[in-house]
Amino acid sequence: MTTARIIDGKAFAAGLRERIREAVPAFQKQAGRAPGLAVVLVGEDPASQVYVASKHKATIAAGMESFEHRLPADVAQDDLHALIDRLNADETVDGILVQLPLPKGLDEKAVVMAIDPDKDVDGLHVINAGRLANGEEALTPCTPLGSLMLLKDTLGDLTGLDAVVVGRSILVGKPMAQLLLAENCTVTMAHSRTRDLPDVVRRADIVVAAVGRAEMVKGDWLKPGAVVIDVGINRLEAAPGESKGRLVGDVATAEAMDHVRAITPVPGGVGPMTIAVLLRNTLVAASARAGLEKPENL
Ligand code: NDP
Repeated sequence: MTTARIIDGKAFAAGLRERIREAVPAFQKQAGRAPGLAVVLVGEDPASQVYVASKHKATIAAGMESFEHRLPADVAQDDLHALIDRLNADETVDGILVQLPLPKGLDEKAVVMAIDPDKDVDGLHVINAGRLANGEEALTPCTPLGSLMLLKDTLGDLTGLDAVVVGRSILVGKPMAQLLLAENCTVTMAHSRTRDLPDVVRRADIVVAAVGRAEMVKGDWLKPGAVVIDVGINRLEAAPGESKGRLVGDVATAEAMDHVRAITPVPGGVGPMTIAVLLRNTLVAASARAGLEKPENL
């Protein structure tokens, strides 16, 4: 078996961001303003601060307005809702993203449900989950939509292919399965209670691993010629002499390379797609709110 193709998510995401940057002036000309993304960060979690800073930078680079709102970890639930209400009513805000997880004591679900579904660029509101499940236009969670884009770029038409999604979270697994179903795949959702997981995965032409367990999916679980999307991001323990452990996915990539047709690396696969799709969702939300056509090639 020849060695697999590495799916370059970093390059694909850069291309998508470039297409968005090129589409923004047309929106601006017709709407009389740039698309706006508001990001809400509650507390001081270091990882969340890094994510919010990169989202801000990417939003500006795309030619959009970035509004950052930082609140203390002990903010009252009502005050957080008051901010969401203001952002819902603000005509210059097209997308609202509340950086998750929220500090303990805050009701995350209630906050997500308070966001106007038409500004819910993270796609986590039940209205958007319902629209996706019904096959309607929906704002769709960024990581699974980015994963689908990589799959279509690799395989073209996905009709009739057997897809196994390992993981059933609201953020990744469930919307991923819905997206694949909408592309006419035959979809199996696997999770921690699935029996004979290796056998289930072995049936798949497409495997999406979104579990959060380092290198859990082994090479011999994979059908020869399968295409693998590895969503997992896991940091291994640091080896002696290293300050930080290596990042790995949910798939044992080195083993998988001998079996599969193509696979996303970690890092550099699905990860870079997430912010690119967030910008795409913001432009799509902005266009819909302004009564404009959805930009092409996005
Ligand atoms: P969750 O913890 O919410 O969900 C994990 C899922 O994996 C659950 O459905 C769980 O099943 C399933 N699972 C756990 N153990 C097993 C097992 N032994 N066998 C089969 N299934 C199992 O995680 P997320 O969906 O939020 O994230 C998954 C991974 O993707 C993480 O590594 C995360 O860091 C990464 N991620 C990467 C992103 C990116 O930008 N690249 C963005 C978002 C997430 P059950 O429901 O039965 O408990």
